[in-house]
Amino acid sequence: MKIGVPKEIKNNESRVGMTPAGVFELTKNNHIVFVQSTAGDGSGFFDEDYRNVGAIIVKSIEEVYSLSEMIIKVKEPIAEEYPQIKPHHILFTYFHFASSEELTVAMLKSKAVCIAYETVEDTDGSLPLLTPMSEVAGRMAIQQGAKYLEKPIKGRGVLLGGVPGVPPGRVLVLGAGVVGVQAAKMAAGLGAHVTILDTNMKRLRYVNDVMPSHVVTEFSSEYNIRQHIKDHDLIIGGVLIKGSKAPKLITREMLKEMRPGTVIVDVAVDQGGCFETTVPTTHENPTYIIDDVIHYCVANMPGAVPYTSTMALTNVTLPYVLLLANLGWENACENDKSLAKGLNIVHGKCVYKEIIDAFDWSE
Ligand code: NAD
Repeated sequence: MKIGVPKEIKNNESRVGMTPAGVFELTKNNHIVFVQSTAGDGSGFFDEDYRNVGAIIVKSIEEVYSLSEMIIKVKEPIAEEYPQIKPHHILFTYFHFASSEELTVAMLKSKAVCIAYETVEDTDGSLPLLTPMSEVAGRMAIQQGAKYLEKPIKGRGVLLGGVPGVPPGRVLVLGAGVVGVQAAKMAAGLGAHVTILDTNMKRLRYVNDVMPSHVVTEFSSEYNIRQHIKDHDLIIGGVLIKGSKAPKLITREMLKEMRPGTVIVDVAVDQGGCFETTVPTTHENPTYIIDDVIHYCVANMPGAVPYTSTMALTNVTLPYVLLLANLGWENACENDKSLAKGLNIVHGKCVYKEIIDAFDWSE
């Protein structure tokens, strides 16, 4: 198959849809890969790296699309890209259709086949192409939180690991899912005292089994949260209720209970956030302060570490890309039910119920 890797043009997106390692596998399987020049620069992969594994470097986005049957991307296409997308294309990328009717209508009109990373689903209900980004965000949450706890940026001036003779900082993690566990692991690694809360006892049992003893699990209730916010330095929001907005676990009024300079990192911001005072921020202006509490609410945290994020993403997308390239989309989806769940739009028809529901198109 002829496969295209365009350069991402969405604002502040430095990731790329395929690493040289992925291209190596595709060319080894006799596929032809067109990579747009400088597409990988932001992630530290240069044209020469792609050329060395058999890719053909093309200058323009028009060439990538016109020469390719399947397009591998990271982010959903933006309006500038719509005219490139034709009925013979398979697009494999993050789409998040339910959050944009404009994009959905554009892809329906294109008559292309759109397979969304975020809805590829394993038999246990997990979302394998979202997991690596939660892993990145969970780990980053501690790195960012530790930075904003420093006094010059108005934090409490607490070193998370403490030093001999001085107790470590205290980290409260809300949610023991992918984000929460990775955050707890990083904080524990720095030597911080960690409290992790969830409503799911299975998750708490798992965390209790695998984490060191300075990571304490506790059932998530309003009472417990109210107690802990008083003496924790860094609070991470990593809760998710699938298909719903995040529950508001910390209200505006509760900020007054925290000590000045406490840092809260709301990773769940993309689902509306689990703090009442959460407003999405960007990497350019990541924080704001309310009642002396520093809020970090960046909606695309993995975008700040494109080298790691690109590799983490393509590690999990590559097996599906290979399947699609080797068998064609129909046979690939027939053979792999997880991949079939990724089918959102097929030649002008929306085939994913939640998208139809999101726009009330059921008539
Ligand atoms: P997950 O499903 O693995 O974990 C969520 C956990 O929250 C579950 O264990 C669930 O039981 C728990 N939970 C639900 N209600 C709770 C409550 N009231 N109290 C405590 N725990 C509760 O989800 P995840 O992959 O860890 O993702 C978490 C959030 O982070 C999602 O909203 C996801 O979209 C977001 N995310 C954001 C970024 C970013 O850049 N900001 C990146 C990746 C993921």
